[in-house]
Amino acid sequence: MAPITPTTLLDRAGSHPAPLIDPFARAITYLRVSVTDRCDFRCVYCMSEHMSFLPKADLLSLEELDRLCSAFVAKGVTKLRLTGGEPLVRRGIMTLFASLSRHLDSGALKELTLTTNASQLEKYAAQLKGYGVERINVSLDTLDPDKFRAITRWGDLDKVIAGIDAAQAAGLKVKINAVALKGVNEEEIQDMIAWAHGRGMDMTLIEVMPLGEVGENRLDQYLPLSMLRARLAERLTLEDIAYQTGGPARYVRVKETDGRLGFITPLTHNFCESCNRVRITCTGTLFMCLGQEDAADLRAPLRASESDEPLHRAIDAAILRKPKGHDFVIDRRQQRPALARHMSVTGG
Ligand code: SAM
Ligand code: SF4
Repeated sequence: MAPITPTTLLDRAGSHPAPLIDPFARAITYLRVSVTDRCDFRCVYCMSEHMSFLPKADLLSLEELDRLCSAFVAKGVTKLRLTGGEPLVRRGIMTLFASLSRHLDSGALKELTLTTNASQLEKYAAQLKGYGVERINVSLDTLDPDKFRAITRWGDLDKVIAGIDAAQAAGLKVKINAVALKGVNEEEIQDMIAWAHGRGMDMTLIEVMPLGEVGENRLDQYLPLSMLRARLAERLTLEDIAYQTGGPARYVRVKETDGRLGFITPLTHNFCESCNRVRITCTGTLFMCLGQEDAADLRAPLRASESDEPLHRAIDAAILRKPKGHDFVIDRRQQRPALARHMSVTGG
């Protein structure tokens, strides 16, 4: 296959393709790509202990992922996040960052980033920075090594901390994402905020979402952030700020630590009105909403032709089906997951 450049992409499409606007007048400018469904951890809220993963042959190649991402960039996507599964366990993943960085150089892309568990970050931090990555999200739910091992089922906290150290030494801005887990890390959140802010990192809290069967009861894991926020507000001064990163978090400044704290509250507060994103799985399935089943296969149009025209048509048609929002609920009547697929499939 001939190398893909932004110019050939535009040539293939015939002209600059129309930007992506959904039926609710939301411009789609943010693409999250799950580059693998595999992971070196098995976080209790994300995966079951004995997950079955896709056969490697089903995955899009790194070249195909590049072509797919580039088609979205040509259609006005300005922010690209690689995620998973664990993106840094996909073999050769640095070559994808390297090739996508051309869109940063051309100015078409404003941000290339990733969400990682940081287990492999020590190895890759400097390269990521070299490919134009500026900010990364690291998922970390506790600073206690034993709890960390229990949550991830076997992860090593030291490796994660070494990864964060390397990222900061390389000049990457790190944001810590922590899932609020009832009875597990709720008492520790204030210390984690002080730790993150003390290291110059923003922190975001996330509610557990009912995605996939994980072998545990969601109700046992679910801690409403409204409750956690109220508890934090008894001890800390939380000042609402207008800061936005293009994601769904709403931020406050913590006066005592002078750092930013975000809340991602898909259950207690729906953020769908301002949704600007879509997600692609590692097999090329486009999900227009994290919380709905409807999806579009982009692998067939991608492989159907050397031209990107079928792909552009398929993307346009899918965006016209983007739903207004999700309707996650976790309650006693609804004990089964709202959606059968795991977060590691669609990417967090
Ligand atoms: N492995 C990488 C990581 O952990 O950062 C990237 C993929 S992971 C699926 C992305 C994010 O989704 C993580 O921050 C994780 O905590 C979050 N996540 C996974 N399952 C979730 C669930 N059921 N509810 C809420 N967040 C979830
Ligand atoms: Fe892996 Fe991330 Fe899921 Fe944890 S949250 S099991 S690190 S994909």
